[in-house]
Amino acid sequence: MSTFRSEALKEASSRKPVKFEEADKKSAIFGSNVFNDAAMKKFLTSDAYKGVKDAVQHGTKIDRKLADYIAMGMKEWALAKGVTHYTHWFQPLTGTTAEKHDAFFETDFEGGSVEKFGGGQLVQQEPDASSFPNGGIRNTFEARGYTAWDPTSPAFIFGTTLCIPTVFISYTGEALDYKTPLLRALSAIDEAATEVCKYFDKNVKKVTPTLGWEQEYFLVDKALANSRPDILLTGRTLLGHTSAKGQQLEDHYFGSIPTRVLNYMRELEEECMYLGIPVKTRHNEVAPNQYELAPIFEETNLAVDHNSLLMDVMQKVAERHDFKVLFHEKPFMGVNGSGKHNNWSMATDTGINLLSPGKTPMSNLQFLTFFINTIKAVNVYESLLRASIATASNDHRLGANEAPPAIISVFIGQQLTKVLEELEGVSTGKLSPAEKTDLKLNVVGKIPDVLLDNTDRNRTSPFAFTGNKFEFRAVGSSANCANAMTTLNAIVAKQLKDFKKEVDALIDKKGLKKDEAVFNVLREYIKQSKNILFEGDGYSEAWEKEAKKRGLSNFKTTPAALKAKVSKQALELFGELNIMNHVEVEARYEIELEEYTKKIQIEGRVLGDIARNHVIPTAIRYQNTLIENVKGLKEIFGKDFEKVAKEQIALIKEISAHIEGINSKVDQMTEARKKANNLGDAHKTADAYCEKVKPYFEVIREHCDKLELLVDDEIWTLTKYRELLFTK
Ligand code: ADP
Ligand code: MG
Repeated sequence: MSTFRSEALKEASSRKPVKFEEADKKSAIFGSNVFNDAAMKKFLTSDAYKGVKDAVQHGTKIDRKLADYIAMGMKEWALAKGVTHYTHWFQPLTGTTAEKHDAFFETDFEGGSVEKFGGGQLVQQEPDASSFPNGGIRNTFEARGYTAWDPTSPAFIFGTTLCIPTVFISYTGEALDYKTPLLRALSAIDEAATEVCKYFDKNVKKVTPTLGWEQEYFLVDKALANSRPDILLTGRTLLGHTSAKGQQLEDHYFGSIPTRVLNYMRELEEECMYLGIPVKTRHNEVAPNQYELAPIFEETNLAVDHNSLLMDVMQKVAERHDFKVLFHEKPFMGVNGSGKHNNWSMATDTGINLLSPGKTPMSNLQFLTFFINTIKAVNVYESLLRASIATASNDHRLGANEAPPAIISVFIGQQLTKVLEELEGVSTGKLSPAEKTDLKLNVVGKIPDVLLDNTDRNRTSPFAFTGNKFEFRAVGSSANCANAMTTLNAIVAKQLKDFKKEVDALIDKKGLKKDEAVFNVLREYIKQSKNILFEGDGYSEAWEKEAKKRGLSNFKTTPAALKAKVSKQALELFGELNIMNHVEVEARYEIELEEYTKKIQIEGRVLGDIARNHVIPTAIRYQNTLIENVKGLKEIFGKDFEKVAKEQIALIKEISAHIEGINSKVDQMTEARKKANNLGDAHKTADAYCEKVKPYFEVIREHCDKLELLVDDEIWTLTKYRELLFTK
């Protein structure tokens, strides 16, 4: 057998589970590497402690002197745990996390040395960040950006490094990262939602959006993954014939977890515990070698940080267990892809989940207010929401006849559909006492606190209400949640602001009572938002047709979907809420287009390389064997040879045809790439890569996959699907 593949297979099949013993009870180690409340109380002066708390709760500024004290405490805590370096930890627009480590260690002029870390270093750092994507912002304004401490996400220790979560901004204040706009969106929704809450409870002072992500991923043996240049360089297989057995038996889903994988998960969970990431569930997913991990939900900014950190930790722990984690949305053709469901809600500082039905008519009216406003926001901004999850890799999932479609719709279940239907009948203007009583007793008062049909929810919906939260399911598994969360929180914030204005106007100008005004506005919202509600099969063709009639967008590719990001509607939204100015929005748009182009460009190059340098030579080798065989048959059978060598000759021809197919298509693809590269404009280039380059992938792949079926397994160099998917 081809040596590279056979060595990899030998290595993979001889693996024993890597032993792992838990250090202690989870609760005993949870957060022990986080500069959390307990650590702050112990290591900070009471002034410094209060300073951080105020910053977290009320967004107050921390002055330099206070920062010095905080840094001192943080350093003591970290040194006690054997830490030697510190870094500002941030999320540039590359989609991964970035860090630049500096040692605490410093020398003085007398030849001595100390461990130093002051307020200056805590608050601000200048990474040499000229190579992070910035969409021209820095070129236009300043040469460099800097990172600044985000006290709302606690510092943590990873290995021997103190990591300080930070934002990353240019000197002129433009956001160069994912976190900055997210923090601004969270603050916008806090402000808007708190105002709306006051209709129902004057005591509410703060609303915190919550996020619980569910991370899906594939685990592939390290040796096998490394044996495939496509996995190594693009995170997915660009070719490979589907395995005879795939996921059709559904024997993997919720099946028992293999020991090797289980040990990996156990160690991963322990690492998460130290870092304060509250992981809770683990299980197999639908596809072979696919798994899922989910935490207890948290405040959104922290949850986003934790997801980014987790993805990093997952890869590092995997290394120790000889696995590679594939976060790509579609690493294998023909088996399910991976997503990252974003469960989202809003919580008040009085302890109420605003998307959880309550026990009294008043609390249910509050629930309905937030519920209906969210639906309306999604209806108005569906294309922007779609744009927030658009990436080259997520294109393989969305709209590709697999969870979920590229059309954004909202599923709410039968019970709530009925409630909305009844609310639609509310009279205009003042309500009679009888109608009010009826609404309170029979509509709002009858919403059960457990919504039964929502436990049996529609799995094909990209945005589903699941009892006490919305679940945004179309987010890609490799994405940073911040993109989707910034958009979702922004559109709901804007919607709640408008709602407040409308209700106030009815109270002030029309003399309606508060609840009458709320009912009146909600009734109109229900009427206006019907288009987005869909309870049926989201994968069906009928829905595509229906959605088109309803005027919903259906962007199947990233370049098409991204346009909504720079629409007038989007620029106004982000501008009005001070989340991003037009320069920041446009810069992001450009970065995302460029990223799309680069991804397709790399895939094209890798595919061309594998097809020409792995597949064709192997095919020729096999073809030569066949030719030898035919020659031999001719020697033995003389002029009758054609009869006995018929199949071989057909095979020789077939192989030649595929080789020709690969060669000519790779040439044409390269030409298409060259043309695309010369277009200059980011959008035109991305479009060309999407429309003119990418279509070759499928054709080239088909030839390669056919050859895989024809060529002797012994000499095939590329590790096959069945080996990648079923080696445990
Ligand atoms: P599944 O969708 O797989 O059935 P669950 O419904 O139990 O799983 O929960 C999925 C995720 O939803 C978990 O990460 C959980 O923490 C999160 N979640 C639950 N309640 C909320 C909430 N109020 N806000 C945000 N996330 C939540
Ligand atoms: Mg889920």
